[in-house]
Amino acid sequence: MERYRVFVTRAIPQEGLEILGRFCDVEVSAIPGAIPREVLLEKVKGKHGILALLTDTIDREVMEAASETLRVISNYAAGFNNIDVEEATRRGIMVTNTPGVLAETTADLTFALLLAVARRIVEGDKLVRSGQFTGWDPLLLLGEDVYGKTLGIVGLGRIGKAVARRALGFSMQVLYYSRRALPKEEEKALRVRYVELPELLQCADFVTLHVPLTEATHHLIGERELAMMKKSAYLVNTSRGPVVDEKALVRALREGIIRGAALDVFENEPDVEEELLTLPNVVLAPHIGSASLATRTRMAMMAADNLVKALRGERPEYLVNPEVLKG
Ligand code: NAP
Repeated sequence: MERYRVFVTRAIPQEGLEILGRFCDVEVSAIPGAIPREVLLEKVKGKHGILALLTDTIDREVMEAASETLRVISNYAAGFNNIDVEEATRRGIMVTNTPGVLAETTADLTFALLLAVARRIVEGDKLVRSGQFTGWDPLLLLGEDVYGKTLGIVGLGRIGKAVARRALGFSMQVLYYSRRALPKEEEKALRVRYVELPELLQCADFVTLHVPLTEATHHLIGERELAMMKKSAYLVNTSRGPVVDEKALVRALREGIIRGAALDVFENEPDVEEELLTLPNVVLAPHIGSASLATRTRMAMMAADNLVKALRGERPEYLVNPEVLKG
């Protein structure tokens, strides 16, 4: 049986590596953190498959470096904006991702961030740790209620829907804007109402972003959109950093255009706009949307399964570019 040569760009949970090891000779980058570009270009040479992370830019240069042997790029993420899918398709290379499996976990984190910023949990934590908590106070850290408020979901896909289900438990009204409206029965079941983006921004107390990063969604939320939001509203972003114009967000937060923000992702990760670090009305998380042990393990198994299926001539379950099979 042919053993396939596979490169994994960073350590992932063992369960995924075990699946790969059944059929492939696997090399895992031993470098802590994101793999340096020149090492990536060297390591992919002659490989049949690459198991990549969202921190790896997989473009034409990488595909060229891998040469003719490369048949699949399996992304360990739901998003695949780090991969030049068009180029891969042109070269007959399958691209796969790990959607669905992380939707509930990412929706949990979204709600955790929303609650944290509205109820000023991080400020409270800092206060207690600093020894300045002198006892219950009627005016201490007054925040905003979440229950009964209006939630605006931008991008009602897998994660957006999981967030909508959670909002029902908080008796929230849910508005959504997406590329297209859901069928009426599905809207009814989820108790969500479709509106255009400007209306969503004007009406929502909390706006949460769940679109993929594409050309169309780059800076989807900028100065103009932030100005449409209520002064009392909060923005939550667990999608991708560049969906929000981070400089415009800083200005809006500083000038009271909106009340607060909670962010799991940043425009130039791992760099963060300096001023965000100093603003009290912001909660910051280090891109941990899918970071539960169970989910990261399932993602590893799914990414490995996608890769192995592609190499063994089967159709991977989560194929981003099915048109590649026609060629
Ligand atoms: P999904 O199921 O594909 O949902 C994305 C939704 O956005 C779909 O309803 C899609 O509409 C809609 N959409 C796409 N382009 C749009 C546009 N230009 N305007 C308005 N709506 C648009 O993806 P998902 O699994 O929910 O994940 C969403 C994103 O979250 C991922 O792409 C990833 O970048 C991010 N993510 C982040 C973390 C984290 O760690 N923070 C974890 C997981 C995922 P169609 O159905 O018409 O395409």
